[in-house]
Amino acid sequence: MALEEVLNIKSNERRSVTVLGSTGSVGTSTIDLILRSPGRFSVDTLTGNSNVALLAEQAIQVNAKMAVIADETRYDDLKAALSGTNIYVSAGRNALIEAASRPSDWVMASIVGAAGLAPTLEAVRRGAVVGLANKECLVSAGEFFCREVAAANARLIPVDSEHSAIYQVFDFERPERVERIILTASGGPFRERTLDTLQDVTPAQAVAHPNWDMGAKISVDSATMMNKGLEFIEAYHLFPVNSEQIEILVHPQSVIHSMVEYVDSSVLAQLGTPDMRTPIAYALAWPDRMETPSSRLKLEDIQILTFEAPDPERFPAIRLTREALNIGGTAPTVLNAANEIAVELFLTEKLSFLNIAHVVEETMQQIPRSNLGSLDDVYAIDTEARRVAAEIAAKHTL
Ligand code: NAD
Ligand code: MG
Repeated sequence: MALEEVLNIKSNERRSVTVLGSTGSVGTSTIDLILRSPGRFSVDTLTGNSNVALLAEQAIQVNAKMAVIADETRYDDLKAALSGTNIYVSAGRNALIEAASRPSDWVMASIVGAAGLAPTLEAVRRGAVVGLANKECLVSAGEFFCREVAAANARLIPVDSEHSAIYQVFDFERPERVERIILTASGGPFRERTLDTLQDVTPAQAVAHPNWDMGAKISVDSATMMNKGLEFIEAYHLFPVNSEQIEILVHPQSVIHSMVEYVDSSVLAQLGTPDMRTPIAYALAWPDRMETPSSRLKLEDIQILTFEAPDPERFPAIRLTREALNIGGTAPTVLNAANEIAVELFLTEKLSFLNIAHVVEETMQQIPRSNLGSLDDVYAIDTEARRVAAEIAAKHTL
């Protein structure tokens, strides 16, 4: 499909872009790519949570029209940092939603966690092309979110490296010819540890990912392998397959970013060096491609690619996400909220590493399943699950 048809813009016009969460790991990589392609993009709005200095610097560098800081108490600081420019400044949760509603062609959804849900949904509802990094909103709001995407004729281009890989090799015209999706996982920093040595691991050890440089929350999720569980639910919503068709395979080198197997036993894969700028560029330029500074794959240097099945005993998170998806309704919302609370407590050294999964499992057991009909239902159950998870975590406090 031609670019103009998809975006309803003339191909000689710059693509206008909004980056929700520009100060984070995915956000700064997105800004890096935009700065490396002068003339290709015009930036409408950038948003951050509290890092005023970085947000202001980015807004000036890319000549944004608007900069939004989610933390309202930082409004005056941002205003001061951008004084003397024409950049419009705003603050607060509603301003994030307003940012998403502005008519840019393309929106990067790279706010971390359920906080990204409302602004991402706003971009979806106006039928934008959305580069989706925020997997938590698909887990938390699942079918409801997908219904909104379909109703508004919006388009989600996955940014998560695995889903970008699948997107690139999935035959959407013949989904019935797909037999399996093979979602690869690095296994995280603790892949080779025994269960008893996992008890005392520190936040610093958990965020030191062997292959990828990412934000703190997703790095902890990678260490527990909850990240792969969330990605399993993300894949279920993004691609027309059932949950039994999605398999998880540990591949420590992170060279094959995921695979799709067809009925004739052909397996198609997307490969690359572990640099998020590759999947971000794919989404940013879609349906075209653009240059990236990512280092090129030299398989002769890597020589050996290895694979193993994930260990359910040391990494129960994958089982929990399969259970949540099978239960359906509010169960994935509860899982996501409880995990966000548990990871936050682990990062502030109030909960042990192994108790992250325990808190998630106990929270899921305590909150009975109900149906998700609206965004208000999602918020209500998210709030309730956070409260219950905090209570359960308090019993396990270090
Ligand atoms: P990060 O923590 O580095 O950045 C998060 C961004 O969200 C920042 O701009 C921060 O200011 C903003 N933010 C945080 N809390 C907020 C709030 N309450 N309200 C408004 N803004 C808020 O995270 P990241 O690693 O860039 O990850 C972003 C998302 O992308 C996550 O959902 C993650 O799962 C996903 N993702 C990240 C990577 C990666 O390589 N980092 C890879 C795949 C998917
Ligand atoms: Mg990923």
